[in-house]
Amino acid sequence: MGIFQEAQQYIVGGVNSPVRAFKSVGGEPPFIERGEGAYIWDIEGNKYLDYIQSWGPLIFGHCDKDTQEAIIKAVKKGVSFGAPTKVEVELAKEVLELFPHLDLIRFVNSGTEATMSAIRLARGYTSKDDIIKFVGCYHGHSDSLLVSAGSGAATFGVPSSPGVPADFTKHTLLAEYNNIESVKAAFEKGDVGCVIIEPIAGNMSLVPAKKEFLEELRELCNHYGAVLILDEVMSGFRASLRGSFDIYGVEADIVTFGKVIGGGMPVGAFAGRKEIMEKLSPVGPVYQAGTLSGNPVAMSAGLAVIKKLKENPEIYKELEKKAKALMEGFEKTSKENGIDFTYNVVGSMFGFFFNPKKPENFADVDSSDTQRYAKFHNKMLNKGFYFAPSAYETGFICTPMSDSDIQNTIKAYEEIAKEI
Ligand SMILES: *Cc1c(COP(=O)(O)O)cnc(C)c1O
Repeated sequence: MGIFQEAQQYIVGGVNSPVRAFKSVGGEPPFIERGEGAYIWDIEGNKYLDYIQSWGPLIFGHCDKDTQEAIIKAVKKGVSFGAPTKVEVELAKEVLELFPHLDLIRFVNSGTEATMSAIRLARGYTSKDDIIKFVGCYHGHSDSLLVSAGSGAATFGVPSSPGVPADFTKHTLLAEYNNIESVKAAFEKGDVGCVIIEPIAGNMSLVPAKKEFLEELRELCNHYGAVLILDEVMSGFRASLRGSFDIYGVEADIVTFGKVIGGGMPVGAFAGRKEIMEKLSPVGPVYQAGTLSGNPVAMSAGLAVIKKLKENPEIYKELEKKAKALMEGFEKTSKENGIDFTYNVVGSMFGFFFNPKKPENFADVDSSDTQRYAKFHNKMLNKGFYFAPSAYETGFICTPMSDSDIQNTIKAYEEIAKEI
């Protein structure tokens, strides 16, 4: 019996997060033994160039020495106290120093917790129940965010998972990404306390928002007295040092973080204006808590990474150059083989589509050839290139990835392009 079969006897579906089961691309997931820099090895000794990097967190690659040392040092002092520690204050200072419009932060254990808590806070602050979210944006798996469009955008959402009561999603209005008219319609329809959006959407492959769209969204929130939550769990410290803020300059009322902020350990956070954040317990009445929140080992990993990023802000340009080289190589090869191909790159993030059109929203992304992606994935994996096992995910470049890694990936694609 293979390890994946054994895993399925004990763990639901053999995995602890569904995408890892390879359902949408077929085949079986390799079980990973270890990583080093840009590479991972599975338990059978196969080596892969890793374009997932734990779904984003590992911007310095696997086993980054500075992160590793910080973790080991912290572990030796004790893994958890459930009491305040200095390292939480240090990480809070390092993060907030980057964002003049964010005054206070709260650390949690995942991106899901960050967005869920940010929405509760926004509702508590505005005393308004309805929220707007965008079709194709993912903000974790809390009830009111597991919503799909009803009969079209700008409708009250219907649950996208059994177990989520329709009563819980009836306050979630859906709008279309990059379509400000659909946002206006949603504002008209409900009593909207907050809007949550990925300013650089990374969960429908990679689709950045248009600048004017985000600016108009900010204005609409001001006009209606709604809290704007920019979910930068993925894009924060990944698209650039300050996420979407460096690119668009749009000031959120609350920003949510995750992934890179924990350097590979389970960390999430939400930060916002003082006036809003002070509604949060224990200062204010909106309740939020966590036994392991601000865990010193996790905070130490996050602190090592954020400090290193702040000391080396030039890496984003280099990472973007590599991401572009990869995508341009793929584009050229696709063209030569009559394959429809478009792509987006933002900093160290890339997304590509087997689609003649560059997508601007989820419907566009959804019209891409996902069967072709499955073939691409399978054949590249066999050649030692580990891409996301779903056409709806973003790819990541890490600092140890070399130019020859990129060129080898393009060469491998040249070899398999005829077969997909
Ligand atoms: C990954 C992600 C989340 C959820 O974070 P988890 O740590 O998986 O709970 C939320 N929002 C965005 C934009 C994400 O990419």
